[in-house]
Amino acid sequence: MIASLGDVLQDALKNRYAVAGLVCLGWEDMRAYARAAEAEGVPVILQAGPGCRAHTPIPVLAAMMRSVAESVSVPVVMHLDHSRDIDECRAAIAAGFTGVMYDGSRLSLGENIRKTSEVVRMAHEAGVSVEGEIGFVGYAAGESSAGTDPQEAQRFAVQTGVDAMAISIGNVHLQTDSETDLDENLLSDIEAITNIPLVIHGGSGVPKAQRAKLGRESAICKYNIGTELRQAFGRDLRQVLAVNPEKFDRVEILSELEERIVSTTRELLRGL
Ligand SMILES: [Zn+2]
Repeated sequence: MIASLGDVLQDALKNRYAVAGLVCLGWEDMRAYARAAEAEGVPVILQAGPGCRAHTPIPVLAAMMRSVAESVSVPVVMHLDHSRDIDECRAAIAAGFTGVMYDGSRLSLGENIRKTSEVVRMAHEAGVSVEGEIGFVGYAAGESSAGTDPQEAQRFAVQTGVDAMAISIGNVHLQTDSETDLDENLLSDIEAITNIPLVIHGGSGVPKAQRAKLGRESAICKYNIGTELRQAFGRDLRQVLAVNPEKFDRVEILSELEERIVSTTRELLRGL
């Protein structure tokens, strides 16, 4: 069932749980993630990030996500992840995405507020929700983070009208181990003066116990998770190929993989 980002995250905020924002690269993983969510009876956010969009055009992704979302009974959000281009957000909204993340985190606070507000106006007119980012979430072996300032977060939330806010509290993108603690004091300071759902990018790098605890106890309503599922996909693919060296048909190979992706994802969803 297709759902908007705002509806799914408001329910998560009210009932104190967190939803997985799963990084999709194509048909097989989207379908497996939706099946896993259906099996666990939880909502899920399917996300198309910059790498995915460089590979597959937005209208194609939207059509695939819609088909997958309509095939299950749990709420499925069709979400554009990390767009720095307002025209791209517009194209995603026109194609049927139900959530867009406008990433103005590299801009000055004033510019970030101005551009994010523009996306919010455009998206809300179409019934689409917007995630913004305040502070900067860095990248493993790349740009370093700038922690979110609670006062800036409060101003950003009020002035833009975003439906969800990605914050930087120790989380880092593309981490291949889960050993980086989130700063719970900074999180409390942000929660104390804002009332919108919070998003943690780089969810793969957060220790699983802390991820689960803060999902239940804080205003964190969405964890973006990519790396740990992509690692599992790569591992499983190598195994399937090694066990079946004679196989060459892509659909046959990926079909064998899909059950494994579903079970890995179910385990992840249970642990949030
Ligand atoms: Zn991110």
